[in-house]
Amino acid sequence: MARSKFISMDGKLVPYDEARIHVLSPALKYGANVFEGLRAYWNADHGELYVFRMREHMVRLQQGMKIMRYKTQSSVEQWERWLLDMIRGNDHRTDCHLRFTAFVTGEGFMDAVEPVVFVASAEERPAKPLEQKAVKAQVATWRRIDDSSMPPRVKTGANYSNARLGLLQARADGYNEAIFLTQAGKVAEGGGACLIMVRDGVPTTPMVTGGILESVTRASLISLFQSKFGTKVVERDIDRTELYAADELFFCGSAYEVTPVTSVDRLPVGTGEIGPVTKSLWKAFEDVVRGRDNSHPEWRTPVFGGASARRTT
Ligand code: PMP
Repeated sequence: MARSKFISMDGKLVPYDEARIHVLSPALKYGANVFEGLRAYWNADHGELYVFRMREHMVRLQQGMKIMRYKTQSSVEQWERWLLDMIRGNDHRTDCHLRFTAFVTGEGFMDAVEPVVFVASAEERPAKPLEQKAVKAQVATWRRIDDSSMPPRVKTGANYSNARLGLLQARADGYNEAIFLTQAGKVAEGGGACLIMVRDGVPTTPMVTGGILESVTRASLISLFQSKFGTKVVERDIDRTELYAADELFFCGSAYEVTPVTSVDRLPVGTGEIGPVTKSLWKAFEDVVRGRDNSHPEWRTPVFGGASARRTT
């Protein structure tokens, strides 16, 4: 991985190796952090890098911080500026995965809700063809955390211990990814991505009250299914055995983008190959995120300011 030159801390560009928080901070002692993972897509014809749905990510961060009772004086607008300044400061002119994290720092105890430091970083991640992204998944024996105890709606680093249990078990058993069921035994999501299955031509996904993170990518794909293909995505409970009966299945998320799942518990999904719906949806999505398709300009924030699609909010 090529390192960025700078990481942003509260808007200040700090050399990569000097971006630190203390080992006794609540962020480390209690996992007191809430974060976002975003993507930025390069369009060579436009000479522009577009951050995908930055506002929606920042609003989700704000909601997560509210639920966890963090205190800060800074605003969504400021966070957006800090993220964009960090990318410009590093002059990233290629596809990137971005992280934006609110860490509770200082030396507080379990009840600490401030001070909060906001850290923005980027990692260059070149585009990968869909064929290279296909994964084999295992239904985890570890169940998904629940809104009554550890809300999956909040994107806190602490939640990812649940994801790690399933993922590491899957890796130990020879799979690439884990799929989690809720406490009630319905399909929830992957450790770092939501799930959409296609059964008898109907794209179907668990509801936002079904033990999932309210994914920005999931919402975008639901919208593109409708606008590009005239298909309504059904949001409902999904049984485990429907994963085996599905024609197509894929993970979706900022990091996973569209990641085809070609088998579950060693049973092939459909033909065991990447399906036609997954392929056309990915193409439609990629065209939009890169601005090759100029619909949804409000989803793309140009980093360097050259394009006409600049958002004003
Ligand atoms: N679920 C989980 C548990 C995740 O970590 C992510 C990644 N943020 C997602 C779903 C997908 O969310 P998004 O599309 O907003 O990245």
